[in-house]
Amino acid sequence: MMAESSLYFKQIEIGPMQNFTYLIGDTATREAVVIDAAWDIPAIIQAAEQDGFTVTQALVTHYHQDHLGGDLFGTHIQGVAELLEQVKAKVYIHKAESEFLGRLVGVSDSDIVQVAGGDTTTVGAMTIKFIHTPGHTPGSQCFLIENRLVAGDTLFINSCGRVDLPGSSPEDMYSSLQTLSQLADETVLYPGHNYASQPWDTLGAQKRHNMYLHLSARGRQEFLSALR
Ligand SMILES: [Zn+2]
Repeated sequence: MMAESSLYFKQIEIGPMQNFTYLIGDTATREAVVIDAAWDIPAIIQAAEQDGFTVTQALVTHYHQDHLGGDLFGTHIQGVAELLEQVKAKVYIHKAESEFLGRLVGVSDSDIVQVAGGDTTTVGAMTIKFIHTPGHTPGSQCFLIENRLVAGDTLFINSCGRVDLPGSSPEDMYSSLQTLSQLADETVLYPGHNYASQPWDTLGAQKRHNMYLHLSARGRQEFLSALR
């Protein structure tokens, strides 16, 4: 028999672009990681504290301002820079995003951990696996914890991330969707934005309903020509 999980998992919708921030922790040690801390750092820290957790790590799905913080269209969006003023934590970001890290004004290099696909981090007794899923950006990554996949802007409910932005690659998105399709049908997809009528779905259901997973299953050419 499997030991009962001590997983703490919270999905928080935040900001004007329907972003999701996630808190993932271990109920035994009361430590939590935050994924894509942006928009309202005090609210995120307060949400963790209200549940009795301390944020000890910051994981970043990709470098875009609505997930990481920074200036966008003349407006400053709070992000990991403001988080690190409040809590002592390292920032985990894929090494292929390194050229964009200049955006992290005020964050010292020693606070940034550049990771690769297959790397893991632990929070309490929980292991979080990093999956490199380029396509939306070169260093987009997803996080797998138990049977939950936090997918950033790679895979949405019934959609996938944009591949027409600087650093995007439709070819890479095709490969990344292939990678995610290998995960078990029971895996629960938690996207980076609340763009659908439901905030999460199983990967099995998405393999049936998500047009982009359908197209990627049909092969590279079909996928690429449908995106054009
Ligand atoms: Zn994005």
